[in-house]
Amino acid sequence: MELVIRNLSKTYANGVHALRDISLTIPFGMYGLLGPNGAGKSTLMRTLATLQEADSGSARLGDLDVLVQKDEVRRTLGYLPQEFGVYPKVNAEDLLDHFAVLKGITKRSERKVTVDALLRQTNLHEVRKKHLGGFSGGMRQRFGIAVALLGDPRLIIVDEPTAGLDPAERVRFLNLLSELGENSIVILSTHIVEDVSELCSRMAIINRGEILLEAEPLRAIEQLKGRIWKTMVDREEVEEFEKSYTVISTKLMAGRNQLHVYSTESPGEQFQPVDPSLEDVYFTTMAGLKSGEAALSGAEAAL
Ligand code: ADP
Repeated sequence: MELVIRNLSKTYANGVHALRDISLTIPFGMYGLLGPNGAGKSTLMRTLATLQEADSGSARLGDLDVLVQKDEVRRTLGYLPQEFGVYPKVNAEDLLDHFAVLKGITKRSERKVTVDALLRQTNLHEVRKKHLGGFSGGMRQRFGIAVALLGDPRLIIVDEPTAGLDPAERVRFLNLLSELGENSIVILSTHIVEDVSELCSRMAIINRGEILLEAEPLRAIEQLKGRIWKTMVDREEVEEFEKSYTVISTKLMAGRNQLHVYSTESPGEQFQPVDPSLEDVYFTTMAGLKSGEAALSGAEAAL
């Protein structure tokens, strides 16, 4: 089963083109949708979660028409929105049980087994009697995943789940997500490159409502080999370098600036070659340069 999105477009009433002719094919497993704030990720996620309408285009989940057969899609959907409210005075077990009823698990004994298993899976079993108001950000996100997993969804959408988590909570949360990928389509929307590089076997980069790259992360990194170079410069020099070279990123390191430059050959003596990372793929793509599979398909076309 695949999620096949074709030519999806959305313009809000204020004139913002949030989605421009989006086409993606998303297979089983963990899929990363990477882009900066305002790129259109949440708009796409909410549309796929049947919570808002697109202006045109289609989305099919197996044989379901996502934009039309909303009830059927909801039955097989697990959605963790960017922000979700919890009832602070209810404990985790009771609230999960309540959501299980809403999801249509009406038999009490079946619900007990499901709720118990999900609390264990999300490592919340020990705190199941604790009120959600006392949960940390990470516990709350894990509770959100427990809710999203009710009813064995085939499509799981998590929107910016690690924003605001401390490093230890983030690792724990990503580990939890990594266990989900095999039997369902999991879409992880994020602006954090490491989330995608650690988890996803496929990804897309989105900006200003457009898909700039659809790729396998490892392959896209491979495609950049020999094309990324680094050098350290003082702050006053950055602008000059940006005029003379294709600077894709500037990072402060110990008070100086480390520039990454895109070039198919050595740009000069003061540059050293870099083993590219997914961050280089991201910045190269955002800079409007062809990289990854886009570059490959160009090369293949030339052969
Ligand atoms: P992301 O999730 O990548 O941050 P969004 O989908 O939230 O991006 O937003 C994409 C663009 O659409 C942004 O410019 C945002 O300001 C705009 N936008 C989002 N929701 C609405 C809305 N309900 N009405 C008008 N503009 C919106």
